[in-house]
Amino acid sequence: MSTERFVDLHTHSTASDGTYSPTELVRAAKACELVAIALTDHDTGNGLKEAAAEAAKVGMRFVPGIEISAEFPLPGTLHILGYFIDPDSPSLHRMSEILLEARNDRNPRIIKRLNELGCKITMEQVRAVVAGGVVGRPHIAEALVRAGCVASIKQAFDVYLGTTGSAYFPKERLTPRQAIACIHDAGGLAVVAHPVHLRCQNAAHLATAINHLTEAGIDGIEVWHSDHDARAVALMLELAKKYHLLPTGGSDYHGRHKADVTLGHGRHNVKVTVDVLDRLGTKWRPQSTTR
Ligand code: AMP
Ligand code: ZN
Ligand code: FE
Ligand code: FE
Repeated sequence: MSTERFVDLHTHSTASDGTYSPTELVRAAKACELVAIALTDHDTGNGLKEAAAEAAKVGMRFVPGIEISAEFPLPGTLHILGYFIDPDSPSLHRMSEILLEARNDRNPRIIKRLNELGCKITMEQVRAVVAGGVVGRPHIAEALVRAGCVASIKQAFDVYLGTTGSAYFPKERLTPRQAIACIHDAGGLAVVAHPVHLRCQNAAHLATAINHLTEAGIDGIEVWHSDHDARAVALMLELAKKYHLLPTGGSDYHGRHKADVTLGHGRHNVKVTVDVLDRLGTKWRPQSTTR
């Protein structure tokens, strides 16, 4: 069947800020006839074993992944995806601990500022939204909606939580080189996620940023993404060619936390064919940490 040629290489579960458990996510991917998915939770590989087990059960290819935030000048954000990582990698666990501490330092500061701004929410209200994983801004956004402080998650980010919002605090991040090295140490391939979020002023600046990331060891670039229109896709494909990077893509599915993004389709009818994953798999050398 023609629909059975598609994959989604960018998804989030309840191990970070998605609203479906790893098992539910794999089942949903199976239900919409994807041939493979990658789970790429923020800063953690905690959902990977559960997702892998369910994928084996339903007979689907599964790619263990992660999405790590790295330093980049504001208002841009730099996320680096890791693919084919070993969930038991000690370097990955160390990194997750460090990033979790950074979040534990940041979340209370965001809440305190929100309180000062008149939004009376508590950490307990935020925890009530979280399904046991890494606590992030989408959870705070949901708590703000539930408390009636804002009308939508989008408004929560626009007014308070986004990089230009009044309750935004940066969190301590790894350098791009550290994030890439951690992914390589865990046996994975490193891919720069949704490059439009770097918010480079023009194509030349973007090319410079991608060039720097290439020098830092990046292996691929996310070409297809929910926030990439046709023009962005063409630009990222060009950069992939220019810097010899593997093209990847996915919806960045978060369940209800990004209600307009559908699994396997994203927002601009993102469709990633299975050959993209096959190419990625070809370049992957297990445990080749000496690149
Ligand atoms: P955090 O890891 O806590 O910094 O939160 C990052 C998450 O917030 C990612 O899932 C982003 O997709 C989401 N996010 C960032 N900016 C926005 C925005 N303007 N609207 C909705 N979600 C956003
Ligand atoms: Zn997220
Ligand atoms: Fe991201
Ligand atoms: Fe993501």
